Amino acid sequence: MPVNGMPRELISRERLHRRVDELALEIERDFADSEDLLCVGVLKGSVFFMSDLLQRLSRPLVVDFFQASSYRGETTAPGEVRIRRDLDHSLAGRDVLLIEDIVDTGYTMRTIMALMGFRGARSVRLCVLLDKACKRETPVQIHYRGFEVDDVFVVGYGLDYNDRYRNLPYVGVLDEVDVETE
Ligand code: 5GP
Repeated sequence: MPVNGMPRELISRERLHRRVDELALEIERDFADSEDLLCVGVLKGSVFFMSDLLQRLSRPLVVDFFQASSYRGETTAPGEVRIRRDLDHSLAGRDVLLIEDIVDTGYTMRTIMALMGFRGARSVRLCVLLDKACKRETPVQIHYRGFEVDDVFVVGYGLDYNDRYRNLPYVGVLDEVDVETE
């Protein structure tokens, strides 16, 4: 499916950076007493957001990554998530900050958060750049939220369409007219 033109800007680079500043302050304050903070980025969409966020934290922390695929076919239950890349670090007894690009129906995050708890994390908190709350099908507790977005398909600042647009410095909308179906 080829795409015409550039995505329409929804959240500017300046607004993104201002919000990341605010989230970093909140996180720094909330984890002040935590001795062992593990920051887990959910690949690949969180990478740009995570990099900007964690560079603003001055406390010691460990970085790790997790990659999952969600399946929503007719033969799979909603929320069935397959691990494609697992963590390098053990979660036992650690405070975990999960960093994700966007929560839509909520199935992916609900499953990943449950898995982290099951593996013995002391606490699991979720930091999400974008919240498509209007699409939620299962509840997810979001501790740190960048922006709420409507039911539109967003790309940029890590988010992709067919693995493209991740390096856009802003969050944009791909309108249906931009996408040619074959
Ligand atoms: P959920 O399980 O919450 O429905 O799915 C979340 C995943 O769907 C995200 O991690 C992301 O990969 C994908 N997703 C949902 N909405 C969008 C969107 O507007 N743009 C992009 N690029 N990905 C999206």
